[in-house]
This record gives sequence, C-alpha cells and structure tokens, in this order.
Amino acid sequence: MLFTEDFLHYIWKFRLFEHAGLQTTDGEPLQILLPGLHNTHSGPDFSNARIKIGDTVWAGNVEIHITSADWHKHQHTNDGAYNNVILHVTYRNDESIILPDGRKLPTLLLDGRIGTDLHSRYHQLIYGKQQFIPCEGSIKAINSLSLHNWLTRTLVQRLEKKSEAVLASLAYNRGDWEETFYQHLAANFGFKVNALPFELLAKSLPQQILGKHKNNTLQIEALIFGQAGFLEDEFTDEYPNRLRTEYQFLRKKFQLTPIEKHLWKFMRLRPQNFPTIRLAQFAALIAQTSHLFSKILEATEINELRKLLSDIYVNEYWDNHYRFDAESKPAKKRFGQTSVDLLLLNTVAVFLFSYGSRQKQQHYIDRSLQLLDDLPVEDNHIVADFDTIGIKTKTAFESQALLELKNSYCNHKRCLECGVGNQILNLT
Ligand code: SF4
Repeated sequence: MLFTEDFLHYIWKFRLFEHAGLQTTDGEPLQILLPGLHNTHSGPDFSNARIKIGDTVWAGNVEIHITSADWHKHQHTNDGAYNNVILHVTYRNDESIILPDGRKLPTLLLDGRIGTDLHSRYHQLIYGKQQFIPCEGSIKAINSLSLHNWLTRTLVQRLEKKSEAVLASLAYNRGDWEETFYQHLAANFGFKVNALPFELLAKSLPQQILGKHKNNTLQIEALIFGQAGFLEDEFTDEYPNRLRTEYQFLRKKFQLTPIEKHLWKFMRLRPQNFPTIRLAQFAALIAQTSHLFSKILEATEINELRKLLSDIYVNEYWDNHYRFDAESKPAKKRFGQTSVDLLLLNTVAVFLFSYGSRQKQQHYIDRSLQLLDDLPVEDNHIVADFDTIGIKTKTAFESQALLELKNSYCNHKRCLECGVGNQILNLT
C-alpha cells in the first residue's frame, strides 16, 4: 500500500479502520473511547484521547507513524512532549518502543485493518493522473447539499484572508474606514495590471484633500491626473493644459509629490481599460459621490449599490480620447455594469465582510455573502474548467468559493482536509 502519514491520521481521526478484535501488538484487548483532537502543530498527533487497554482506561496523547521505528527516527525518545503518549498507532511494527520510564509503549497495528476500497479511492485522489484537479472524476457524485456547505466554508475562508489585508490597511489608516475603502477601491480600479499605481496614487492623495475640492470637478480631475504623474508635460489640447495649471497650484498648496508616470501600463490593454480612462472614471466617482463607504453600509439591495457606483459621468473630453492629445473615434466612456460588478465583488463584498467581522455585526457578513450570491459568475478559466467536470456555477458566491477551493486545496492536494475529499473517501 502506498500512502502518507496524513492518510493514517485521517483513518484514525474518522475511525475508518476495522474495529473487530482490536488489540495491542502484545495481545491486550483494546477499545478506542475517544480518538482525541488532531494536533497539526508540533507535539503528539492527537491529544486528549481516551482508550481502554485490558481493564484500564487511559487518557492522553496518541502518536501515529507508518512504521514503529519512526518513533526513534523522529527523535521522540528524549522529547518530554511525548511522555504522555498512551498509544502508538502504526502500519508496520518493526521495533518495540521502550519509554524513558521503562514502560513499553502500547502499539496498535493498522496493517490488515484498512479497507482496500478506501485505500484505492485515496490512491486515486493523491497519486492518480489528473488534468485539472485530483477528484475530477468523482466530484460530480458529491451530494449537492454537502458541496454547497463546503463551498460556503471555502468562500468564508477566502473572505477572511482578504479581510486580513483590509484590517491591516485600516490599522495603518488609524481606524478610518472611508480612507481605507477609498484606497482599496482605487486599487481595484486598476484591475490587476494597474492596481499598484492606483493604490500608490490613492495613498499619495488622501481623501481629506479631495474633500476640500468636491465642488470643483476640474480640480478633482487635476489632483488625480496630476498625482498619477500624467500632468508633467505641456499639451496641445486645452483640457489637459487646464488640468496642468490647476495641478501646479494645488501641488504647491498641499506639497504633493506625484507618483512615477512610468508605473502605468498600457500594453496589451484594450483602450477602454487604459489607465487614463480608468483614472477619468475614478475622478468622476470621487467628484460625484461623498461618504461612499457609509452609503454602502446603508444600501441593502444590489441595485442600490450598483446605482451608487454607476451614476457617474466622465468628463466629455474622453468621449473622443483614450489618451491626452490623441483624438479617437467617438465612444462614451461610461462605467459599465461589468466594471461596477467587479468593484462590488472585489471591494464592496470584502469590505462588508471585514466591517461585519471587525464590528462583530453578523448582518454585514450576511449581506456580503448575499451580495456575492446576487452577482453573476465571473468569466475565468478555473470556473470554465470546473464546468467541464460537471460543477456548474450560477453566481459569484459559487465561483469565488471554487477559486478558493482550487487555489488553497486542490493545487496542494489537501484532499484529506477537504469536504469534497471526505465525501469521496467515505462514499459507500
Ligand atoms: S482538494 Fe477537494 S475538491 Fe480539490 S481535488 Fe481534493 S477532494 Fe477534490
């Protein structure tokens, strides 16, 4: 049989071995009352186990190895953390273990007690050939309620991880949710390609400064394009020259330093996604809204949220430009629903979750999950690959959960820790 020690942990944890006639290698009758708590850190593998050997009930730790000689190889002999081991569970018994107090460590041998069916399902998962994920041939057979429950758990794990970044920024911004939201919103305006310059821009231009110019759209645009590094040169067109003049004044007034223009990437982007267009849309959003995060907390329906982010009008200069001084065919640069939904998915849902967790207000967490359930599925190859193995997705709730499942579990073959893997291994 080919397996890892993790497989034996799994077998022990879920008691998936033949229990009839259990006895130690010394022939004493053995009964497992409690397998104990799985310990994934240093120290014995299971703690607080209860077992009965002969007529005596023992409480303590259980250590598991593939062969009993691993006890010495893993240097447990003189390690005090292992003094309270009450049972050694092994697949092969090639050595008796004598503890420092002279006691012989009782050993349970699992050889012959693991079902071949269970082993072959495990083998297929961990060592089988795969094109996409290890369980691609069996995931479709999973009970849909169990799959949904597991996906909910992976989605929450994903949101918890993203929340950590939000809460770190919140600490940096001294607890200012509006400023933190503004910075993360900016980063998401840049998609992956221009997320960094957008984030640097927002950090270099606090909302407090923008707030002083809310009644002057040109000044907001000047501050944003100027801090982005786009207003350093002379222009032919009047609009960018006006922005430049405004920025030169505001830059001195607030002692601002622009970020480097070369950080912005245009290569391989469709013109609608050029950073100049995204900056114009961001400027419009900042100029035409205020206290955005507070309004997001108040909005209860997805359509209210969509309206908050989409009711914005980009300066008409961009109707026939994708860059300064380069006229193009007329095309409105509206902030479309796909872009709005991406902000809802990547920023708003994450902030609702983070806010709910931080403030211990479950209804914001529920609203975050509901929002993801209301948003359409995103278009990416992982979702498409799950679709080809029979896992269909209708909402961003499911697609985000599948992304987490694939990246955090399947890619690392964590099938023994996965709700789907547990179902597959326990299918009867
Ligand atoms: S981690 Fe879970 S979903 Fe992924 S391949 Fe393993 S059993 Fe399947």
